[in-house]
Amino acid sequence: MKKLLTLTLVLTMILSLAGCGSTSSSSSSTASNSSASDTNASSDIKTVTEGTLTMGTNAYFPPYEYYEGDSIVGIDAEIAQAVADKLGLTLKIEDMEFDSIITAVTTGKVDIGLAGMTVTEDRKKNVNFSDSYATGVQAIIVKNDSPIKTADDLAKAGVIGVQLGTTGDIYCKDDFGEDHVDEYNKGNDAVMALVSGKVDAVVIDNEPAKSYVAANDGLKILDTEYVVEDYAAAISKDNDALKDAINKALSELKADGTLDKIIAKYIQAE
Ligand code: GLN
Repeated sequence: MKKLLTLTLVLTMILSLAGCGSTSSSSSSTASNSSASDTNASSDIKTVTEGTLTMGTNAYFPPYEYYEGDSIVGIDAEIAQAVADKLGLTLKIEDMEFDSIITAVTTGKVDIGLAGMTVTEDRKKNVNFSDSYATGVQAIIVKNDSPIKTADDLAKAGVIGVQLGTTGDIYCKDDFGEDHVDEYNKGNDAVMALVSGKVDAVVIDNEPAKSYVAANDGLKILDTEYVVEDYAAAISKDNDALKDAINKALSELKADGTLDKIIAKYIQAE
């Protein structure tokens, strides 16, 4: 009886091991089949590298994208991964200056720009945008004892620090003139300039603003919104198939709660 039991056990193990191998290969093909019928067959979608969704970002924009060790994580990275999964594509993330992302999309270096990027009329001249997946706010960071208390007070600032090529940069130059704006490659460099007194305020998106203020003593975010905006993925004007597939994937991820879950993981409700 014991022998029979052992034999059955061994047989079961062998069978389940063999089963394992075949399950994993068949489940992966089912996965891509089902995602193909969910959205689009990946073969219908042209991407810069076949089978890959290449995303351009600037990974110094927490909690949307930032480094954790060697890997880029955050809301945008997770949304891109979920979209790529639905499209049956492998995600590849390329880190670059924020100011280079639109050019990387238009010159076919990347498929999408996903970087907490605000939809603007000006950018729409060069790229298409997906449906919006999040809201951003241009926030104002000052030192605790600053005389700047409202967005209007920015007019009194000698110099405002911004991140080059961002909407904060564009709006501040429009509203207060180039002479009153200092552009930095990274948001953190603008904040360091505020800490050392080189600039009087920093205008930057509210979520990274929160992490910069948390990381530096003596700074605060004004309780006033400079501009409210929509974030979306930038996509080449020559790739409507990709734009449609991404919009379909995004609406599915919205409907099943995945988007909310990803955002809630990184942004605690106030
Ligand atoms: N939302 C801002 C913009 O689109 C900043 C984005 C960023 O710095 N990653 O210009």
